Amino acid sequence: MNPNLLNFDAAQLTDFFAEIGEKPFRAKQLLRWMHQRGEADFSKMSDLAKPLREKLAAHASIWAPQVVSDTTAADGTRKWLIDVGKDNAVESVFIPEANRGTLCVSSQAGCALDCKFCSTGKQGFNRNLSTAEIIGQLWIASRALARDVGATPAPDAASDQGAAPRGERLISNVVMMGMGEPLANFDNVVAAMRLMLDDNAYGLSRRRVTLSTAGIVPAIDRLGEACPVALAVSLHAPNDTLRDVLVPINRKYPLAALLAACRRYLDKAPRDFVTFEYVMLDGVNDGAEHARQLIDLVRDVPCKFNLIPFNPFPKSGFKRSPRETIRRFAETLLAAGLVVTTRKTRGDDIDAACGQLAGRVEDKTRRTRRVVEIQPC
Ligand code: SAH
Repeated sequence: MNPNLLNFDAAQLTDFFAEIGEKPFRAKQLLRWMHQRGEADFSKMSDLAKPLREKLAAHASIWAPQVVSDTTAADGTRKWLIDVGKDNAVESVFIPEANRGTLCVSSQAGCALDCKFCSTGKQGFNRNLSTAEIIGQLWIASRALARDVGATPAPDAASDQGAAPRGERLISNVVMMGMGEPLANFDNVVAAMRLMLDDNAYGLSRRRVTLSTAGIVPAIDRLGEACPVALAVSLHAPNDTLRDVLVPINRKYPLAALLAACRRYLDKAPRDFVTFEYVMLDGVNDGAEHARQLIDLVRDVPCKFNLIPFNPFPKSGFKRSPRETIRRFAETLLAAGLVVTTRKTRGDDIDAACGQLAGRVEDKTRRTRRVVEIQPC
C-alpha cells in the first residue's frame, strides 16, 4: 500500500520526499495543500508540476478517516463519530465559545486505563490511532466548519509565500481529551501535535494545544523533551488510597511521583502551570477533607484546578456532586489561594460531554471481549 501522507509530520514528510528524489520545500507545499486547503487530490495541487503530481499519485495517498455521523447539540457543541475500521469508531467534539473554538480529539479506540467513572474506560481497549486518524480529526472538523461559513479551511494558505495570511480561525484550541490515553500512544500523538503546531499545517501555539493524561509518569518526561504543550493531569483524588481505586494507573505511578513529574514538566512547558482536572463525584471525592488534602498535595506545584461535574452514563455507579457541594469545594481551594474553574457541561444532550465519549470499540482486552456501544441515556 502507498503511504498515507496524513501519517507524516513535517520531518517525516521531508524524509519521504527525499526518498522519492524531491526537494524538502515540496514537503511544505504538500503540508499546506493537505492541512490548510484540506485537499486530498494530487491532481488539484496546482502549484506542483504535473510530473510531480503524477509521481505522488503513483507513490502516495492522502486518506482521512470517514465520518459516520455528525451531530450538533442544542448549545452548538458538535460531535463527529469517525470510522477507524473493523467496527471501531472514535469521537471528536467541537466546542464553540464566544472567543475561541476548541476541538477535543481522541487518541485511541477505547482505553486500557479503566478509570472507574469514565465511559470510554468501561468499553475496554482496541488499538492506538494512527497519526492520520488523529490529525484526520482536525482535518475533518476544519473542513466541515469551513464549509459551514463558506470558506476554505484557511484562505490563501496554500500560496507559496511563507506563512500565509489566515482567515478567521474556527479551531483556535485543541485538547487531547477525547477517547483514550494520549501518552499511551506517544509517537503518533506527538507527530499529530507537531502538525497542529506547524505553521504549514494548523499553526496553533503550544499554549493552545493541551494534552490531558491520567498520569503516565515516564511519558510526561518524554513529552517535555519531544513536544512541550500545555499539560493537564487528571487528578480526581487527593490521596493514593482513593486514587488507586478511581484511576488505577495510580498503583503504578503514585501521587508523589506524578506531582514530581509535573514540577519537572514545568521547566519545559509553554505555560507556567499544570491544569489539574478533578471530576466531582457525589460522596466519593467531594468532601471538605478531600479539599484540604488537595491543598496540601499541590503545595509545590504551580497549578490551576478545573472541577468537572461528573457526566453520567448508564450503569456508571456514580452521581454528580450537587451544585452546592461543588461551590463549597471550589471555595475551599480558592481560599487557599488556588486558581479554580468549574467546567461548564457542554453537549451532554448528544453524549458529547467529558467522559461520555463512547464511540464504538471492539474490546481486545480480557475484560469484556465484545463490541460495546453505549446508547444515549
Ligand atoms: N486519558 C486522558 C484524557 C481523556 S478524558 C486523561 O485521563 O486525562 C478527559 C477528562 O475527562 C479527564 O480528566 C477524565 O478523567 C474526565 N472524565 C472522564 N469521565 C468523565 C465523566 N464521566 N464525567 C466527567 N469527566 C470525566
